[in-house]
This record gives sequence, C-alpha cells and structure tokens, in this order.
Amino acid sequence: MIRLRTLTLLLSLALLSGCGMLHSVAQSGKLLAPESFGLIPIAPHLYVEAGTDEATRDRLRSDMARAKAAINKAYGSVSARPIVHACITEKCYAAFGGRSDAAKVFGQRILLSPRGLNWHFLAHEWSHAEMSTRLKLLAWKRMPQWFDEGLAATISEAPEHSENQWQFLIHAHIPRPTRDELLTYQSLQQWQAGVHRFGDDKNFERVAQGQPSLSPVYAAAGHEVRPWLAKVGSTGLLHLIQRMNEGADFESAYAHQTQIP
Ligand SMILES: [Zn+2]
Repeated sequence: MIRLRTLTLLLSLALLSGCGMLHSVAQSGKLLAPESFGLIPIAPHLYVEAGTDEATRDRLRSDMARAKAAINKAYGSVSARPIVHACITEKCYAAFGGRSDAAKVFGQRILLSPRGLNWHFLAHEWSHAEMSTRLKLLAWKRMPQWFDEGLAATISEAPEHSENQWQFLIHAHIPRPTRDELLTYQSLQQWQAGVHRFGDDKNFERVAQGQPSLSPVYAAAGHEVRPWLAKVGSTGLLHLIQRMNEGADFESAYAHQTQIP
C-alpha cells in the first residue's frame, strides 16, 4: 500500500506544470487527504477551507462551472476532472506547499491561493490538467512549456496574461521576451528561468507594495498562442494533440495546424 501510494504521488509530481511548483513533497501530499487538513467538500471535486463564507462558496461553485465551460469550448469536450482545493487564507495555502504564485496544479489536483480564487486561475490550471490527461506521457514531455502555458493563458482569459496586458507592457517599455526567446522555453526549467528573469514571479511582493502585477512571460506566451487557437479552433488543437500522440514532433504539428486555411 505504501509503495503504491508513493508511486501515485511520484507520478503526480512528475506532471507538475510550470505555473506553480509545489515545493515540498510532504506538504503537497496533504492534497491526497484534504479533509484531514482543514478542507471540506462543498461540491463534487471542490474543497474549500473550513470557515469559508456562503457567498464565497457560491462563487467558487459557479467558477468551477465557468472554468469547465472554457475547457469544453477550447478542447471540444472535457476529459480531466481535477479536484480543486481552495484556500481562503495564506496560512492554508502555505500549509499545502503554496508560495508566492496564485495557483498551482499537480497531476489532477489544483490548489488555489486566496489570490487565485476566480474562474481564470481555475481554467488556467484545468487546461494543464486537461492537456496532461489527453497526451501520452512521452508526448506530454515533448510539449514545449511555452505552448502549454500560452494555451492556459488563452483559455483562462486572465486579464493579467491578456492581449491588453501585452500591449501595456510594450507601451510601458517593460522588459519582456522576444518571440525567439519565448520559443526557447521548452522545458519546465527553461520556462521557470524565463519567469524569474522577467520577474513574473515577483507579483506577491509587487502587490504587497501597492504596485500592479506584471507577467511579461505569461503575457508573451498568451500573445503567441491566442491567434493560433483563434485560427485553428478546437479541431486544430485536437489535431495537434493527436499528431503529438502519434509521435510527431511539436514544431511540425504546430506549423501544420497554422497552415490550415
Ligand atoms: Zn500555468
């Protein structure tokens, strides 16, 4: 039993996405038994911190529905049914291994911070869960991080990662990756290095100091993928996933879809 559990946990951790690493195996493992650590179920696949007021619970239930609808629209159907854990306090978020990011996913478990309690962050993380469900493991490992993140940014419609935000960054001369640089962010490590270089990971501090949050790398990824998805639609996205599962390399699958009239 212990071996099986350890294996399950390791497999879950192998599917970490770039938007938020869970830093402690021991802490993130608590998500496997949320009710033992102060969370209570309020809907199928939705847990909240005990003490959450009724208005917030209602909002989270509708956020789940809206995020699911966004996934359905982009992917044509919904394959992943992630379990969502919503923390109302920073203490709760830290207890489950969260840090300065607003939300995170590992495997099919999503953890929302008090700063990420909306459908945008939920849909973003759900997109990662959806992609990891639809791709075979080897294909998933070949998928560039910038695409997975850009797709999540597009589907979530998060204002922080939007086209408006991208235009603001340009006009305010805020450093941001060029397209060529963005496309080098293939691995999780490369993505995280870019996020660190351009300061997407400094928003906790910015907001604490009364400054607006900035996400140059996420906005760049959204700027790249948004027009692509608008052009190819869910049919094109599903073709890309199918081609990747059949062994195609990402670049040819991405370019192939782009050429569809
Ligand atoms: Zn992400």
